[in-house]
Amino acid sequence: MVVVMQVGANESQIESVIAALNDHGFDVHRSSGSERTVLGAVGVHPEFDPRHIELLDGVSDVHRVSEPYKFASRAWKSEPTEAKVGDVIIGGNELVVMAGPCSVESEEQIHSSAAAVAKAGATILRGGSFKPRSSPYAFQGLGENGLIMMREAADAHGLKVVTEMMEPAQADVIGQYADMIQIGARNMQNYPLLRVAGQTGLPVLLKRGLSATIKEWLMSAEYILAENNPNVVLCERGIRTFEPYTRNTLDLSAVPVIKSRSHLPIIVDPSHGTGLRNKVMPMARAGVAAGADGLMIEVHPDPDVALSDGPQSLFFDQFDELMSQVRDIAKAVGRTMPSRTD
Ligand code: PEP
Ligand code: MN
Repeated sequence: MVVVMQVGANESQIESVIAALNDHGFDVHRSSGSERTVLGAVGVHPEFDPRHIELLDGVSDVHRVSEPYKFASRAWKSEPTEAKVGDVIIGGNELVVMAGPCSVESEEQIHSSAAAVAKAGATILRGGSFKPRSSPYAFQGLGENGLIMMREAADAHGLKVVTEMMEPAQADVIGQYADMIQIGARNMQNYPLLRVAGQTGLPVLLKRGLSATIKEWLMSAEYILAENNPNVVLCERGIRTFEPYTRNTLDLSAVPVIKSRSHLPIIVDPSHGTGLRNKVMPMARAGVAAGADGLMIEVHPDPDVALSDGPQSLFFDQFDELMSQVRDIAKAVGRTMPSRTD
């Protein structure tokens, strides 16, 4: 249930409403906007009559939220969320591009990638150091050493760092080096992991599960938001369908669906979405045209020898071209993008 206070409701009125909701057994989350305060009451009390609250001083409206996700819903927050990754804002008018290799492999590889993506206008360096691989015999990532390399490379080029956390025990080490935590598709419904990600207080990039519905995805976002962490960004990265010509099917209709149901920003990852280098650029353009707040793109200095996801990784010059094409689309849909930095 969402309780919208009147513009100008005073602190004692707000506190009385919170106390009344607590008395009825609800947990209350408070969001104070510039104009008015909104209270989110969480708890299942089918017998509760909202008029008990509607009648209190300072209350403007009471809405029952029919969706099972509350804090992720538009009813809870009607304005779009601007997630903050340091001074990079995701969900504002400017599109944000996160780019880098699938895995951090060496100092040389991550430094050259950071230089190339920063030059083309990306502001966040991506790269996995704890890798979720289908085979236990495949490269599993460099662990903390990779995080150190990535932090140095990002700092040398004025970039932020996003990297994947696979288990709660990695939260401390990732927190030392990263600006944003990625929850991968395979872990979208790992609820203890989502809670810990929320508790770190770092912004969280939540990828859609391989066969997750949009509702399930928003319920996973709810786990992070319920830890009082408002900086959640969704990432559409393709779902598994019957189609074998692409690695996954990039569900771009998720972008407008999320935009209408949730206030959370959403970015598109056409690299995992298609699995094929020559399909990344058209789907990046389409993602931005569909209204995404940014992109995640895999690039590699020499994709043919990449230790993971080489076939979907772009060469540096292809990434540069992608950025220039996406800039034109951004302009056409009323968005801006950072310019090249050389
Ligand atoms: C990745 O970003 O490299 C990754 C493993 O992504 P996903 O979880 O979407 O498969
Ligand atoms: Mn990858």
